[in-house]
Amino acid sequence: MFQSIKEYVSTQKQLLKEHCVNQFIGLVIIQVGDNPASNSYVKGKIKDCAEVGINCKHIKLDENITEKKLLKIIKKYNRNKFYNGIIVQLPLPKHISEENVKLAINPKKDVDGFHPLSHYKPCTPLGIMDYLLDQGVNFCGLHAIVIGRSNIVGKPMAKMLLEKNCTVTVLHSKSTIEDLRAEVAKADIIIVATGKMHLLTNKFKFKENAIVIDVGINRGTDGKLHGDCDPDLSVGFQSPVPGGVGLLTRLALLSNTIKAKYDC
Ligand code: NAD
Repeated sequence: MFQSIKEYVSTQKQLLKEHCVNQFIGLVIIQVGDNPASNSYVKGKIKDCAEVGINCKHIKLDENITEKKLLKIIKKYNRNKFYNGIIVQLPLPKHISEENVKLAINPKKDVDGFHPLSHYKPCTPLGIMDYLLDQGVNFCGLHAIVIGRSNIVGKPMAKMLLEKNCTVTVLHSKSTIEDLRAEVAKADIIIVATGKMHLLTNKFKFKENAIVIDVGINRGTDGKLHGDCDPDLSVGFQSPVPGGVGLLTRLALLSNTIKAKYDC
């Protein structure tokens, strides 16, 4: 029986709080523009930091700032000895290259784990692995599938499962529906990160004890948030949306930021 993600996150935050006592641990969040989804994500991160005792500095920049000016601000915080973590909230306006921005952050301070030389693992797959490990999942020899192959979720997720000795298959937008059905039917662990609502439904055949982790966040026509899976799959455990992977991702960001304190 898995502990609910909400309870798990709350317990872990208490433990992280102990690491922050009598220390200055600092995270800079740089946001460009006023995207409503970004505002809400940033608000959540600021609240999390306050809860565990991380000093969070939110820098909100004008939508029209040039890439050059943005890079200059990042470099300033790369040198700052108080702030040990830096994140730039995505997406960025079209005139700014996300790639250049990711590469500008000092890999020792890149607590999102996006730089190729980052000292930290990307927060979403890290948060998922930490949770499953905490719940006692014995990965060795399990058949895991990852649906989606993005650089920030699918690919690093597959690598982390492989490092735990799972047999890993990655499916993506060009995989056939026949392959998807066949792989889902064999899987002990299913990680779904596609941004496609209703991708997995009970029309698929699942292993009775399969673990399904739903990373997807989609806004339905009802105005509510939905995952990539229907919420009532016939499996052993399914992570909820909302209140699932989003919380694990936020927890992993706190944990990377605390690790960065000792790395800088
Ligand atoms: P992305 O758009 O970069 O990648 C989507 C991937 O899904 C691609 O690799 C594509 O090949 C695959 N895909 C698309 N349609 C498919 C299909 N029909 N069958 C199989 N594969 C298919 O997205 P991303 O950044 O990896 O994010 C995926 C989803 O997860 C989005 O909904 C995003 O909002 C969500 N997300 C949530 C969190 C969180 O903290 N909860 C974090 C990151 C991403």
